Amino acid sequence: LEFSDRDVLDEVEIRHLLIEHVGHRCCWGSRPARTWKITSIEDCNVYVGTLETFIEERDTILKKEPYDGGKIDGRDKGPVLGVWELDLRSEFPMLFVPEKEVMVKIPHSEITEKCLDCEGRGEAPCPTCNAGQQHGFYKANQMTRCSVCHGRGLLAHQDGSDSVCGMCNGQGMLPCIACASRGLVTCQTCNGCGSLLAQSTAHVRWKTLTARKVSATTGAASVPDEVFHRAQGVQLCNIQAYQCTPAFFADSYP
Ligand SMILES: [Zn+2]
Ligand SMILES: [Zn+2]
Ligand SMILES: [Zn+2]
Repeated sequence: LEFSDRDVLDEVEIRHLLIEHVGHRCCWGSRPARTWKITSIEDCNVYVGTLETFIEERDTILKKEPYDGGKIDGRDKGPVLGVWELDLRSEFPMLFVPEKEVMVKIPHSEITEKCLDCEGRGEAPCPTCNAGQQHGFYKANQMTRCSVCHGRGLLAHQDGSDSVCGMCNGQGMLPCIACASRGLVTCQTCNGCGSLLAQSTAHVRWKTLTARKVSATTGAASVPDEVFHRAQGVQLCNIQAYQCTPAFFADSYP
């Protein structure tokens, strides 16, 4: 029941294998193996094929960060290559590693642009005290009522006396906690720079996909499971290439 690439075993070999098999069992006799008539010999080869395909995916990610001056690697320094034109041979992984991923800056792709969140001002209306306010229109010195003294500036005591509210120092109103009532906060998008540096980055992924196919001759169904799973098998072929041609075996076709 050994996986074999020879056509069919002959009777002498079969008897030899049977005698060897019963020899491993302490109380089995070898007479049937030696004397019984063999009437038919059935093939039960099983082919296990594994196809590993290696694929590469590339896409471009546009990243923006605050720009506070300094040199940029822009179009004036050279052409901007398309994502599939980049030479990434130094990054290539070994064939058939499960996965690898890299981010590579695309040369000469940097450009600066005005921050749209603050219209280039570097500051934006405070979302706490000037929520929903248009750029350039905001109110400074917006105060909120002190929640400790409810705007009185004084705290009443049980004996009828009052004391100055410590929270608002007797003012009854508190400045905005987000902007100290300036009405403006630093723009989060550009970090106050008013400008952004946009840069294209190539996101490259290599991945191995594995497909396994088992092909068995009809005779294999009659082989007990435990015998079947013990069979070692031999490697019939192993091809690595950029493009593999289909492999054919003797009984690939009925
Ligand atoms: Zn901004
Ligand atoms: Zn505010
Ligand atoms: Zn108060």
